[in-house]
Amino acid sequence: MDRCRAQSLDGEVTAVDKAQTIIPPIRRDWAALRAEQDSPDYQPGEQVGEAIATATLQQKVDIALELLSAAAREFGEDLVIASSLGKDSTVVWDLAQRVISCPRCLIVTTPYKPQATKDFMHRFQAYERAHGYDVRVFQADKEPLPPAGLYNTDPDRCCDLLKVEPLRRGLAEMGARCWVTGLRATEGYTRREFRFIEERDKGLIKLNPILPFTEREIWQYIACRKLDVNPLYELGYRSLGCEPCTDYSMGADERSGRWKGRSKCGGECGIHTRPLTGECQCNEGGCKVNYEDEEVTR
Ligand code: SF4
Repeated sequence: MDRCRAQSLDGEVTAVDKAQTIIPPIRRDWAALRAEQDSPDYQPGEQVGEAIATATLQQKVDIALELLSAAAREFGEDLVIASSLGKDSTVVWDLAQRVISCPRCLIVTTPYKPQATKDFMHRFQAYERAHGYDVRVFQADKEPLPPAGLYNTDPDRCCDLLKVEPLRRGLAEMGARCWVTGLRATEGYTRREFRFIEERDKGLIKLNPILPFTEREIWQYIACRKLDVNPLYELGYRSLGCEPCTDYSMGADERSGRWKGRSKCGGECGIHTRPLTGECQCNEGGCKVNYEDEEVTR
């Protein structure tokens, strides 16, 4: 809190004002929440599925706030909120601000993010920093750039270079022991079996507090809280990524517009599936080699 106050730039809406929206700590502590999920009876698909089907929006908000509050008490400043600058991240950042006095934010960007997303990122970063929040942006080293068109010929590798590696570096630089995502189980076919609390990488917890929110509930929450969102949603997009890999999504699958026309369609960029600690695991030689001899045309 002191750090937030010390870095505030103006007296209009200060971090202290925001702190007034903080609700009291909720019910269970981190150990109890982990014990529940580590129980042999815990079936992530079933438990989350039940919450999706039977919990009200308010109950889902309470679940998220409880998880965030317990994680904040457990990890302190080693808790980092990841933002993709999409609607789900917008909700998670708002939820975090309701129960954590001074949440820290990590953003990964790429050269291929749409200009509207870059502009939104700069506005978000400037606003939150002005109010004392630690918001950091990470991206792949500028030189050498991956070859143009890699997103078509080898999108997995492109995502490794431009998303997974900067996230891995960002988590290390920010000293994260727990990172928070906006992952939701109903987003697409790849997201049904995640847990609220995961430890895919030893020593690095991933928290998915809005796992049972539906797409409609995300928009309800945004409307009720009057949150500013990425303007690309006004154009009809439902899931946002890099420009060459984002199209309109039709039907029930919200992520069906991602990597459309490629085998990766509706899939994952790798930040939820690839190792995020230790040495880079991608493409045998690591992220910073292998593409130096290839043509760079951008
Ligand atoms: S989403 Fe597309 S352009 Fe962005 S890193 Fe992945 S493959 Fe590359």
